[in-house]
Amino acid sequence: MKIHEKVGLTFDDVLLVPKHSKIASRKNIRTNTWLTPQIQLAIPIISANMDTVTESEMAIAMARAGGIGILHRFMTIPQQAEMVQRVKRAESFIVEHPLTISAKATLEEASRIMKESDIGGLVVVDNEHHLIGLLTTRDILLAPSMDVPVENAMTPRARLIVAHRDEPFSNARDTLYQHRIEKLPLVDKEDHIVGLVTAQDLFKIHEHPEATKDQKGRLRVGAAIGVNPSDLERAKSCAEAGVDVLVVDVAHGHMDSVLEMVRILKKEIPSLPVIAGNVATAEGVEDLAQAGADAVKVGVGSGSICITRIVTGFGIPQLTAIEECSEIGKKLGIPIIADGGIRNSGDITKALAAGASSVMLGSLLSGTKESPGATIFRNGQNYKVVRGMASLTANITRREVEQQSEIDWDEWSEVIPEGVEAVVPYRGNLREVLHQLLGGLRSGMSYCGALTLPELIEKAEFIQITRSGQIESGVHDVTVL
Ligand code: 5GP
Repeated sequence: MKIHEKVGLTFDDVLLVPKHSKIASRKNIRTNTWLTPQIQLAIPIISANMDTVTESEMAIAMARAGGIGILHRFMTIPQQAEMVQRVKRAESFIVEHPLTISAKATLEEASRIMKESDIGGLVVVDNEHHLIGLLTTRDILLAPSMDVPVENAMTPRARLIVAHRDEPFSNARDTLYQHRIEKLPLVDKEDHIVGLVTAQDLFKIHEHPEATKDQKGRLRVGAAIGVNPSDLERAKSCAEAGVDVLVVDVAHGHMDSVLEMVRILKKEIPSLPVIAGNVATAEGVEDLAQAGADAVKVGVGSGSICITRIVTGFGIPQLTAIEECSEIGKKLGIPIIADGGIRNSGDITKALAAGASSVMLGSLLSGTKESPGATIFRNGQNYKVVRGMASLTANITRREVEQQSEIDWDEWSEVIPEGVEAVVPYRGNLREVLHQLLGGLRSGMSYCGALTLPELIEKAEFIQITRSGQIESGVHDVTVL
């Protein structure tokens, strides 16, 4: 029998040693980091690719906050590509392909398109894509009936203020202000519609100055894929929809099929960064990096809803896994994402101090308003559902999506779940939850005298604690109100 010499540690087994700090205010502390060597984040937090955590609403909110969301893959390829598009359309400097409608369509149709796409206006065009008007929610609300054709309710071309496509972007803001308008169509010399600048987008730039954006001012988003043959098509569809990063995500990422998928992606879609995982060893990181992964996700059996360690007997306590993987990641220039098991801001600080570049959160974010699914009212309190992606019901969902049909009851017993279904207390807006987590992280960094995350790693010193130390660390000898 071979036994590792090292004792595996996790978050509760250690504390960070307080250090001399010259930091006068936590406001001076920066939390920016790298998701991959190509993508910078203002906050080191990623929402997990779980179907009870990240769909487009969460991804939009995460990117606005300066992190990023990874869309789960337990849906059809068109559904996932549509979610990518939703995030990419949520805001931009210039809407490059504004949604259009014909003048003869009814307001009923216009209203449906606007609701489905979650936008406040449509550009009215003729068959050759010439601009002939603009229709906004206000025009629809004021119309006497929904059967009215768009041309009767829109602001016609003659009354529209427009700008030429080549005008500098800064002029657009002035034009919107001077004319007190909310939308500025951009046209070419022949009056074809080629873009749209909206006041809403300009407000959002002010409101979310740290948002994670691409060069066109669009929010960044990631998409998870698996290792089946159809997953290359999934990756290509998401790439066409504008996804910023792909995440090859399986429970045991140190496998030939994962390495092969990473190689294929880097060959077929070389422009897209690829994150791969999950692994828990230095060899896993090395092999994925060699296959072409730009970042590696670390965590086997650490997730809150995960029973892999109980079902299979495998895993490495998360802090040790982060430390070992980060050491090799640093040598190879591969950022490490600490995924699973994080329960509070103290755990985030420990994961980052141990060398991770960012953390991925599942159940901690699943209770927010922005996570998919309704709230459940039980015993006077609101809850939301969180389920492991290897849980029984999630397995069935995945099979149904793959087969495009319902699974027979007798097939349910074939599943060997490595995750559970659970509920978490409803926690309100993501913004408020992130505020608490980041406040705790900044405070933690100040205890270490670290103004930046690289400084935190450099200065951090852990001390292993005993069970008595753990008890002392929590609230004790009082009754909490
Ligand atoms: P949490 O933040 O909830 O502690 O952990 C989230 C992470 O748990 C996910 O990002 C993913 O890596 C992992 N995970 C999600 N579902 C399952 C599952 O059913 N089984 C296992 N083993 N891990 C899961």
